[in-house]
Amino acid sequence: MTDCIFCKIINGDFNTEFVYKNEYAVVFKDINPKADIHLLVVPRVHVESLNELDDEVLLGKLMMTVKDVTKKLGIKSYRTVINTGREAGQEVFHLHIHILSGGIK
Ligand code: AMP
Ligand code: ZN
Repeated sequence: MTDCIFCKIINGDFNTEFVYKNEYAVVFKDINPKADIHLLVVPRVHVESLNELDDEVLLGKLMMTVKDVTKKLGIKSYRTVINTGREAGQEVFHLHIHILSGGIK
């Protein structure tokens, strides 16, 4: 989607550093961290939110990406968050999983 900030990041438009990437997702640091470590796992395909997701394989791949990136970075204890819908705090309407660790605000 051309006007989606996360699609643009995936496309390399902002030269965002990916701390991890695989066939299904990229992982980068949240620009406004709410913990010592705050990462976003973002699927390469544009899906607005969990409500629009109908691909259980992709959901599994995203959760395994959480596991793989935290393992790679040595993060043993963390919280995962998926905000779904504006009233729940979703600001970017491209599905993503927050990974928060240490000093969670
Ligand atoms: P949510 O509120 O669940 O939609 O989360 C969106 C997150 O994306 C927020 O925590 C923002 O700080 C983060 N964010 C927005 N724009 C960028 C960006 N250009 N690079 C990294 N993180 C971003
Ligand atoms: Zn998108």
